[in-house]
Amino acid sequence: MNKYNWKRIVVKVGSALIAPNQQGCSSHYLLSIAQFIVRCRAAGVQVVLVSSGSVAAGKHLFPDTDKVDITTKKAMAAAGQTEMMATWDKLFDFPSAQVLLTHADLRHRDRYVSVKDTIFSLLDNGILPIINENDTITTDKLKVGDNDNLSAMVAAAADADALIICSDVDGLYDKNPHTNDDATLLSWVNEIDDEIYAMAGGATSDVGTGGMKTKIQAAEKATSHGINTFIINGFTELSFNMLLEGKNPGTHFQPYDEPMQEAVHWMTHTSKAQGAVIVNNDFDAALNEETEQLTPESIVSVEGDFAVGDTILVRKDDGTKLAKAKSNYSSCLLNFLAEQDDEKFASAFQDKTGPIISDKNIAVLEDS
Ligand code: GLU
Repeated sequence: MNKYNWKRIVVKVGSALIAPNQQGCSSHYLLSIAQFIVRCRAAGVQVVLVSSGSVAAGKHLFPDTDKVDITTKKAMAAAGQTEMMATWDKLFDFPSAQVLLTHADLRHRDRYVSVKDTIFSLLDNGILPIINENDTITTDKLKVGDNDNLSAMVAAAADADALIICSDVDGLYDKNPHTNDDATLLSWVNEIDDEIYAMAGGATSDVGTGGMKTKIQAAEKATSHGINTFIINGFTELSFNMLLEGKNPGTHFQPYDEPMQEAVHWMTHTSKAQGAVIVNNDFDAALNEETEQLTPESIVSVEGDFAVGDTILVRKDDGTKLAKAKSNYSSCLLNFLAEQDDEKFASAFQDKTGPIISDKNIAVLEDS
């Protein structure tokens, strides 16, 4: 057991495993997952569970199928969440804890640190954190939107060694296995590039495997944090037995050789830009090294409403994205400084107040 030598793992379970018939929760597929969790814990591996299924579990309590609007879905999530937690809880003889998150909780650094601390405190006390998105209170602006990406953010926060995403297929195929008999399973993925996204089915592709794209996004987030990521078939017990034997039952995405630093990873993959600073097209300062080179004179315009400490995007007038960074100035103050005709005033102001973006919290983007 624990042939992989993991200390901590995140297991992500989707709605189809929890409420397969949308008639409330069923333990049918959860038994082998629960047994896997029990055996991991017995071998000293800490486990965090990211579980979907609140909407699917709550659906049967809302018989009026003509009226499934967003408010009803939120109500289904509220009702189904307790049923889902109760179903998991009865499979374990150790305590579990419900943690409901939105993207807003993860993109604010202090709330993110608080989530992280809570997860570690639960794990240190032998309690199984069961995490889901807080669907009842999320709006489009606040949500992560899918639990694949949420599980990768959680895996990064928990500094996990592995993220195991339970799917309804054996892993990533080169073509959609539901419609192509000759589709081949990829056992290993060393680098997540456009070709891999195309296999998962992008917006313009018709070879999509349905729900695979968000799993690849999650794998990208996790592997860049140094986390081994697996997409496995969660419907078969064999997948979990193989993992326990140190074998690969699905697709294993290799972690980066040189993972991103914690703060840079958070800035790149979890934080969300609240606005943007647009600089001259000829701006060529190395933002990672000399952030003070981002001066009010190089700013063409400021977009959005942001406060001191918010994440912003720095991009050129031609659209090239340069960096995501923590702003030390509010949008209001930056607008004011950028509009000053007297350059000396702006630079004297900056000399006093320090760099516009903080060099400790910057993610340089290669995007164009
Ligand atoms: N949070 C949603 C639920 O519990 C599921 C989101 C997802 O499956 O990606 O129903």
